[in-house]
Amino acid sequence: GGGNGPVLKIAIQKSGRLFDDSIKLLKDCGIDIKTGVNKLKADADNFPMEVFFLRDDDIPQYVQDKVADIGIVGENVLYEKDLPLTIVQKLGFSKCRLSVAVPKGEQYTGAPSLEGKVIATSYPVLVKKFLDKNNVDAQIHEISGSVEIAPGIGLSHAIVDLVSSGSTLFMNGLVETEVILKSEAALVRNEELSPEKLEILEKFLFRINAVRKAKNNKYIVLNTRDENLEKIFSLLPGIKSPTVVPLAEKGWSSVASVLNENDFWHRIENLKAAGAEGILVMPIEKMID
Ligand code: ATP
Ligand code: MG
Repeated sequence: GGGNGPVLKIAIQKSGRLFDDSIKLLKDCGIDIKTGVNKLKADADNFPMEVFFLRDDDIPQYVQDKVADIGIVGENVLYEKDLPLTIVQKLGFSKCRLSVAVPKGEQYTGAPSLEGKVIATSYPVLVKKFLDKNNVDAQIHEISGSVEIAPGIGLSHAIVDLVSSGSTLFMNGLVETEVILKSEAALVRNEELSPEKLEILEKFLFRINAVRKAKNNKYIVLNTRDENLEKIFSLLPGIKSPTVVPLAEKGWSSVASVLNENDFWHRIENLKAAGAEGILVMPIEKMID
């Protein structure tokens, strides 16, 4: 923003479950924006980007209509809208699932258990697809919120709703019986961006990847007797060879490397067993190849 060159317009949720992490993603990418109450849009101070704050349901259509060039939205909303938008990058936050739930004690042995039943949901398109795929004929009752109370008030036999911890279902006497979609926040784009906008998108993606990669890795420093070095190197998966610095105490070295979060504790245990001491583990802010 600010200048008069091209800017990439991004749509994010105005408030709600996607908001904090969307703002954090921009911030981690070094993009500063001023958020404020009732603000509809804001310019980034230090990146050619303009941010639109919208209801999440509206984001796919706005991106499709080119009001925004890109957007951050849950896959659940994206697929429900059924627009020809591409996911550029899944973002790893706002994870949830769209699931079938039935009152505790009801039989559910799969989609055919829904035959002839009434299903309450805010996701009629996805539910219809699920039913059609399973050759099940059921009635979809669309409601926009508090879907979990529908069976209790006699409105439906089952529901299809978003679940994360399952506590809302539990409190309403419902049991999650089948996951029909796994969802997380995703970055979507309009298909026809100008080369200038694409270039900004590439820069943004480059930063997103550096941030995400850093999150999945830790910087570790450890001390060990020199005779253990070979063993320890073999346990450090090769990003590149580790940094080794001799310690003031003779016969000892300090080793620094990067460890992936996957299997992290197992690797740390192996390093300890191989003679690593004083292991320090530090977060990495950005990782750039
Ligand atoms: P808006 O006012 O923007 O329409 P909303 O009330 O429709 O907001 P939120 O409840 O803020 O939406 O949820 C936004 C998105 O967060 C969901 O579409 C989904 O992708 C994700 N999400 C993650 N966990 C959950 C959950 N437990 N319940 C609902 N949505 C969740
Ligand atoms: Mg919404």
